[in-house]
Amino acid sequence: EAYLGAIDAANEKLNAYVAVTHDQARAMAKASDERLAKNEAGALEGIPLGIKDLFATEGIHTQAASHILDGFKPRYESTVTANLWADGAVMLGKLNMDEFAMGSSNETSYYGPVINPWRAAGSNQDLVPGGSSGGSAAAVAAFLCAGATATDTGGSIRQPAAFTGTVGIKPTYGRCSRWGTVAFASSLDQAGPIARDVRDAAILLKSMASVDAKDTTSVDLPVPDYEAALGRSLKGMKIGIPKEYRMDGMSGEIDALWQKGIDWLRDAGAEIVDISLPHTKYALPAYYIVAPAEASSNLARYDGVRYGLRVPGKDIIDMYEKTRAAGFGREVKRRVMIGTYVLSAGYYDAYYLKAQKVRTLIKRDFEVVFDAGVDAILTPATPSAAFGVADQKMNADPVQMYLNDVFTVTVNMAGLPGIAVPAGLDARGLPLGLQLIGQPFGEETLFTVAH
Ligand code: GLN
Repeated sequence: EAYLGAIDAANEKLNAYVAVTHDQARAMAKASDERLAKNEAGALEGIPLGIKDLFATEGIHTQAASHILDGFKPRYESTVTANLWADGAVMLGKLNMDEFAMGSSNETSYYGPVINPWRAAGSNQDLVPGGSSGGSAAAVAAFLCAGATATDTGGSIRQPAAFTGTVGIKPTYGRCSRWGTVAFASSLDQAGPIARDVRDAAILLKSMASVDAKDTTSVDLPVPDYEAALGRSLKGMKIGIPKEYRMDGMSGEIDALWQKGIDWLRDAGAEIVDISLPHTKYALPAYYIVAPAEASSNLARYDGVRYGLRVPGKDIIDMYEKTRAAGFGREVKRRVMIGTYVLSAGYYDAYYLKAQKVRTLIKRDFEVVFDAGVDAILTPATPSAAFGVADQKMNADPVQMYLNDVFTVTVNMAGLPGIAVPAGLDARGLPLGLQLIGQPFGEETLFTVAH
């Protein structure tokens, strides 16, 4: 009731929830009380969570913040949310996001932007919470849920976590099942939690992760007790500092934050080593070929026949065209056009195939470093703190917006785990985050170091 009250009081301003499921929340909480009374409590018994609108929730609003999924209520539950409910968690509602998870500011949502609960000192300007999991990050930061599910295709868990002073982890590709998660770029998409601290993130990920026969890319490895990794010593650990992440024009503030992180880890007993990831500069351009290519294919299913919105036309082709014209927003259309172009017969080899080759090189960069004994890599999470809603520079040129992902997309291209942790405030008093990148299935090490 306290959380529902907080949502009802704050959501009009923050726009973090697109649906508040009062009745389900109360019914689930009552069932939790009954299990608690019988000493049958699960690991998350009674914990109230917000769910990104990308996860299918049976019989409940699931629209990926898109007009084209108007009215869609799935007849099945995503594996990740089913895992959470099996452990006793309670659903408060569905969280706002960029449309189909395409964006870095939560401004591409059909439901309008999410407002970051943080403000710069002495300023009334509304700031973005980052994206695409902006609703998840804002809801956690504003205490409108105890934790949230999120997804990360190119940074969408880590960048919003950094913008809101929360913790977000994208696990290794294959750690969480993608079953029932609306697909954006299937070879990059991974679910993970956004939480108030590292311990909460560890507890939530343990529950979300599983092998799943319904997702053949999920991996059959036992899920460790991530919480047990907190408090372990950093002595003997090697932390890599990649020189290619010291980008031209990086702000002094981000540089100082990074140095502070290096000092913390050295003081905690870790060995700091300089490393090189030579193909880093190609990651962002290659991502913006691979991700739209996969998106254009995944989004072909929204045709006005199978789900949501239908705009009538004079024949079926006309109906498809009118439905897709009305149902998709600008950024989604841009991605579908780019994706269709790079996959077309004349350009496939020049763009898509080349981007896949670059992807292999990026993956190898990390393999070389990990083979040399590096346990985790420390980088900034984002090039800046949260920016203003309707920021002119970000909105005038999509590439400016895409640059938000410059430190995070490499991790998705290589399928690695990455965690963003709050590490301080900028000169205006806004949160800044650091990112730790781990070995494949090295989530425990990430939790140890992040904690
Ligand atoms: N901001 C990136 C994009 O727009 C990443 C999105 C994501 O991780 N879902 O594609």
